[in-house]
Amino acid sequence: MAGTTALIFGTQLYAEQPALQGADRVLMVESAARLRSKAWHAQKLIFILSAMRHYAEQLRQRGILVDYRRAPSFEQALKAHIAEYQPERIQCVPPHEYAADQIMRRRAAQLAARGITVHFTEDDPAFLCARHEFAAWARGKRQLIMEPFYRWQRQRLGYLMDGAQPLGGRWNFDQENRRGAATLPTAPPLPSLVPDTLTQRVIEEVRRDFPNAFGEPEPFRYPTTHAQAAEWLERFIAERLANFGAWEDAMSADDPFLFHSVCALLLNVGLLTPRQAADAAQRAFERGNIPLQSAEGFIRQIIGWREFVYGIYWLHMPAYAQQNFFAHHNPVPSFFWSGETPMRCLAQTISTIRQHAYTHHIPRLMLLVNFGNLAALDPAALTDWFMSVYIDAYDWVMQPNVLGFLYADGGKMATKPYVASAAYIKKMSRGYCERCHYDPNLRVGERACPFNTLYWDFLARHAEKLAKNHRMALILKGLAKRNDLPAIQARAEALRRTWALQSAADRGAEA
Ligand SMILES: Cc1cc2nc3c(=O)[nH]c(=O)nc-3n(C[C@H](O)[C@H](O)[C@H](O)COP(=O)(O)OP(=O)(O)OC[C@H]3O[C@@H](n4cnc5c(N)ncnc54)[C@H](O)[C@@H]3O)c2cc1C
Ligand code: SF4
Repeated sequence: MAGTTALIFGTQLYAEQPALQGADRVLMVESAARLRSKAWHAQKLIFILSAMRHYAEQLRQRGILVDYRRAPSFEQALKAHIAEYQPERIQCVPPHEYAADQIMRRRAAQLAARGITVHFTEDDPAFLCARHEFAAWARGKRQLIMEPFYRWQRQRLGYLMDGAQPLGGRWNFDQENRRGAATLPTAPPLPSLVPDTLTQRVIEEVRRDFPNAFGEPEPFRYPTTHAQAAEWLERFIAERLANFGAWEDAMSADDPFLFHSVCALLLNVGLLTPRQAADAAQRAFERGNIPLQSAEGFIRQIIGWREFVYGIYWLHMPAYAQQNFFAHHNPVPSFFWSGETPMRCLAQTISTIRQHAYTHHIPRLMLLVNFGNLAALDPAALTDWFMSVYIDAYDWVMQPNVLGFLYADGGKMATKPYVASAAYIKKMSRGYCERCHYDPNLRVGERACPFNTLYWDFLARHAEKLAKNHRMALILKGLAKRNDLPAIQARAEALRRTWALQSAADRGAEA
């Protein structure tokens, strides 16, 4: 038996990796089984493979022995590593995803029987609130709500604080941070990153080995090293953060990125840390370059929402993934893959995802989750779709965001289901409704915007369940005044039937 192996997963590429402490070598694994476990977006495959290979190279340059294995499965790679290096101890940061964590803990017990100790580090730079800290905060609370969690985080971490009080005398600027698209300024473009030789080779490999991957592999524009990620963050802080707050909820058909940071993909694999991102925003505010509403809006996303969903996930797994409060069972429509639909907002969004493996928060919420609820899509199937197509998607963040905002979890994450009709989509967007086949002002008829028809139909179908939620009371009052419900419901049923038939036909064609 010889020494300690640091096992480093592809989503834990930290500059300061806690598992390296006292390690003699590193094991990193590219598992073919994992890479082929879903129809991942081509750019997600490129991103992960390029980031892992760059990371291994950096470790080697620091004089660290890296056993980088490309194997049919993680299991086989681990077995081969143990046979070759005979470690007496393996140490790793606990996996962020429930299933991987469980597998790793079972393996630890098996290895212990063979005299190999598996040690899980306490420290994990990916989160500012550890699982046990969140569980302690949650204990005894009847309902978990993001806002009090966020305030607790602000106080204990000290971001934008004046003693025990929030700077500016307010905890949030949500009212100011919802400006519609009518006033949207032009955003500076994202930095243009040219893929280096290593990334270029990965792009060719993905093109060759994953010809059926979803989406376009190029242009690939994302950072894959710590240095590039740091520069990416710096450019966001200098060029886009100032307007982040005011227009964080606005959408534009011409610019999917607007004033967003496009940092989730980097935070979720350790190329950036949440502390780095929140510190950078705080420093920019202190230098006087950034309005408080923008610094607060961004820090809220990082230390509030991101940490909150991680805590909710770990508190409720594994049962969380199975929930289906509204008993919705429709398949994901085939146009979610092809983008072929006359609904311009959705067609544009799918086209953006195909090109960039990205959209910002509001298309995910106001268009895709909203549509998921209104069209009664099966929550697990929709989560699976989200997992495949977004570059920043991982189980711990996708489950609570999709199931939580759908309200499939019955209110563990959000206080009400996210549903909206075309009026709000129209107000918050530019370039969708103005050029759509459908009319955002109509509820019934062939040209009526499906969001309107389905919205009223959703409220009518679930009125009984929704009536128990006081936040839905005002909305349900509107339903009582609707005298065109029979026509709305007939049209809603026809729309859902068409999408289900298209999906079935496409599945048949594939088979
Ligand atoms: C249905 C749905 C699915 C989502 N799936 C994912 C996902 O798979 N991976 C993911 O990282 N985020 C997910 N989000 C959250 C959020 O939409 C993305 O983090 C964000 O759009 C990424 O773009 P950005 O980096 O430009 O974010 P910005 O708008 O610049 O926000 C800054 C950062 O805040 C964090 N953040 C903000 N909101 C959330 C949130 N609700 N949950 C977690 N982190 C948040 C992210 O790390 C993000 O990078 C999802 C949201 C919804 C509604
Ligand atoms: S009219 Fe309806 S379907 Fe068309 S873009 Fe607007 S919200 Fe989307």
